[in-house]
Amino acid sequence: MPSIACDCETCLSDDPRDKRLRASILIEHEGKTILVDTSSDFRQQALRAKIKFLDAVLITHCHVDHVFGLDDIRPLNFKYGAMPVYANEPAWRDLRRIFKYIFEPNHVGGGLPQLIPHMVYNNAPFSIGDIEVTPLEVIHGKLPVIAYRFNDFAYATDLNFISDETIDGLQGLDVLILDCVRFRPHPTHLGLDESLAYIERIKPKRAFLTHINHDIMHTRDSKLLPENVEFSYDGLVVIDKD
Ligand SMILES: [Zn+2]
Ligand SMILES: [Zn+2]
Ligand SMILES: [Zn+2]
Repeated sequence: MPSIACDCETCLSDDPRDKRLRASILIEHEGKTILVDTSSDFRQQALRAKIKFLDAVLITHCHVDHVFGLDDIRPLNFKYGAMPVYANEPAWRDLRRIFKYIFEPNHVGGGLPQLIPHMVYNNAPFSIGDIEVTPLEVIHGKLPVIAYRFNDFAYATDLNFISDETIDGLQGLDVLILDCVRFRPHPTHLGLDESLAYIERIKPKRAFLTHINHDIMHTRDSKLLPENVEFSYDGLVVIDKD
């Protein structure tokens, strides 16, 4: 936001929290730095967050807004070599098609991003350094998308359905970041009431809503939320005190 060619109240807002780039998070923990999704705004976000190094990139799913910055990992490749990238099978299938040139051994011209592809499976934890990462499947329209759990923190965006099994996998969280695209229900995302209903079942200590569109204005609408739930915003830093 603002949305192209829109003159609504949110798109015209002066509040920096109503200026939103595409959804993505950076995790710094136990000496590791992990990026979830190389959004189509990745370059701008990486410069703003002063990213100097990434241990790994995790992909939630292969939609344009979450992966079209992938080519911009090249400066990190030039400095540090190939980047471990984690994604599920449908995401790899689409990444290999959309970024065909990356995977062509005889590609001529231009510096290529260098990836070390890793496949992730629902509920099959893997480690990045000392951090245990658990991929948990959620449903985005018809597409299986990966929510990632890191200890007592989880990131679940681009979904309109969470299975009982994944709800079980999300118990005991300090922090949950959850999809909430607008007030009304949406065919592939959660509307606000649906997000709040899932938060009641998952019971994190704190929840932050993300992937918000211009229906929701940060300050005007924050009063609609329960005490432990907030709208996230660009540049938000969540510190786990434990
Ligand atoms: Zn608007
Ligand atoms: Zn998205
Ligand atoms: Zn999506």
